[in-house]
Amino acid sequence: MLPEIVKDFLLTHKEGRNCLCLAINQKHHIIQYFGSAHRLGVQPPQFEMPVSDYLPILQTETFESNFEIPFYNTSENSVCTIYFIKQKSISFVVMVDKSEIFRVTQKYQQFAHEDNISKNKFKRLAQELEVAKQELKKSDREKATLIAMLSHELGTPLTSILGYSELLLRNEINNKKGLEVIHKSANHLKHLIENTLIFGRSEAQGLQIQLNEISIQSLFNEIKATLLSMAQNKGINLQMFHKGADIVTIDVTRTKQILINLLNNAIKYTESGTVELKFSIIKNNCVFSVIDTGLGISKDLQKTIFDPWQRIEENSESGSGIGLFISQKLAKAMGGKLKLKYSSKEFGSIFQLLIPVQRSRTKQTLKDPKAYLPCNNKSILVIDDDQDILDLIAAMLQPCHLKIHTAIDAEAAFKLLSKTKVDIILTDYNLGSVKASSLVTRFKKLDIPLLLMSALPSETNKQKYIQQGFDAIINKPLNSQNLQKTITNSLSQSKSLLN
Ligand code: ADP
Repeated sequence: MLPEIVKDFLLTHKEGRNCLCLAINQKHHIIQYFGSAHRLGVQPPQFEMPVSDYLPILQTETFESNFEIPFYNTSENSVCTIYFIKQKSISFVVMVDKSEIFRVTQKYQQFAHEDNISKNKFKRLAQELEVAKQELKKSDREKATLIAMLSHELGTPLTSILGYSELLLRNEINNKKGLEVIHKSANHLKHLIENTLIFGRSEAQGLQIQLNEISIQSLFNEIKATLLSMAQNKGINLQMFHKGADIVTIDVTRTKQILINLLNNAIKYTESGTVELKFSIIKNNCVFSVIDTGLGISKDLQKTIFDPWQRIEENSESGSGIGLFISQKLAKAMGGKLKLKYSSKEFGSIFQLLIPVQRSRTKQTLKDPKAYLPCNNKSILVIDDDQDILDLIAAMLQPCHLKIHTAIDAEAAFKLLSKTKVDIILTDYNLGSVKASSLVTRFKKLDIPLLLMSALPSETNKQKYIQQGFDAIINKPLNSQNLQKTITNSLSQSKSLLN
């Protein structure tokens, strides 16, 4: 039977059954016990043993007043709360079973912990979902703005082209002036379309990079040919310098696109003075600098000009605000950087494009395209369903001394081939309702090089065309140097000509 004082104590402390009560003398030795030791996960005590030997946790206690030790582990599965009830001669140590409560509490704690983890997981997922949603919204907004901007932007150069060509047709304007405006507007259109295509492709599948060796001098020549008339029309002196290595391995199309974007801006936002393009290799980077003496960009706007659709209204020239955004994307895709190095209203701006130097596979220098000889006395068949393009290609190939045949569709092409021997074929992909890929087998029977023109094809598409049997792919819009070079290269490697 539990002593009355212990019973009262347990009642006031609302403690239940399953307890072991140790009566201890003034020397703190156990003189008697009540209750079941086993239920508490301990052996029954021996009489006269010091209570702190029986319960080592009590070793530091002085037993001068009542105390309580909650949740003491008596064994692996048992937990109890220890109470000390001080009395004059005989005091009591009461061990109250708390195993069940402890287990439940532990379970709750585990639940709470797991709940917390789930809540955190859920929170993180919700955050990720929110970011994805925002990106989707942003991309949707960008696309909607792109379409709105494009319909507006394409309108201006198209109006000029249509208006001036009409005046030319009616002989109401000086030829040179009219053609200059048309050429400038067409260039502007080309620029816009190229940027838009890159934007679309980067959104859809990311940008793919293709490395090629190129001479900086020839790259500069091509860029100059594109931009010279624009600079001259504004009376701006366009200069290009390069130091050190001339042959570099870069993604030529992307690099050219960025430099044309930067130079186009430099000329556009410069009233008078010079625009320079410089190249050098610094610390394993190809560094292209575009320097102008133009309007400059104020400090607070410098951070935002690389954001899509950001334009500085006071620099009121027409533009879309995606040129720099696209250029920066392209630079990153090449593992490089594009930054505004300096800009002020007094001195103008310096943009810098850095591209890591690629170890070149061959040391040989590139030959001048004009040095390729194999076109002499050879003939080419050009197939395109647009007569203007056929005329343009014929004009571009003039310097190659090729005999040029043209065909407006597949039927005309095969008719010509049945009567005339040609040494190379250049075809557009879309020939009215027929795709050039469906004609490859018939063309290949002739055992001559088969070249394809394609509007800015992706690397994957290029591979596909090559697998279909085309020998080389030429990017549209066409560039006369590239066109001549690819044709002369293909002719020089042609099996039928080597035999
Ligand atoms: P845009 O088609 O409007 O030129 P960009 O993305 O190429 O679009 O340029 C964004 C804005 O940055 C331009 O609208 C212009 O205000 C400013 N900017 C770009 N380059 C220059 C520069 N060389 N000098 C002054 N301002 C520039």
